[in-house]
Amino acid sequence: MEAKCLECDANVHVENDAVIGEIITCPDCGADYEVAALNNGTVTIKVAESVKEDWGE
Ligand SMILES: [Zn+2]
Repeated sequence: MEAKCLECDANVHVENDAVIGEIITCPDCGADYEVAALNNGTVTIKVAESVKEDWGE
C-alpha cells in the first residue's frame, strides 16, 4: 500500500500487513506517521503525536 507524506508529498510505502497504530516513517523527510485507518487496500495516515524520544537500544 502507499500513502502520501503530509509533509513532502512523497509516496510512503506501508506493508500490506500493517495494522492501525503502526508507525511508519517517510523515506524522504523522515517524518513519523501512524496508520489511522485501513480500507480495502487504502491506508490513511496521520502524524504520530505520541512519539517520545525514547531511543531504546
Ligand atoms: Zn516526507
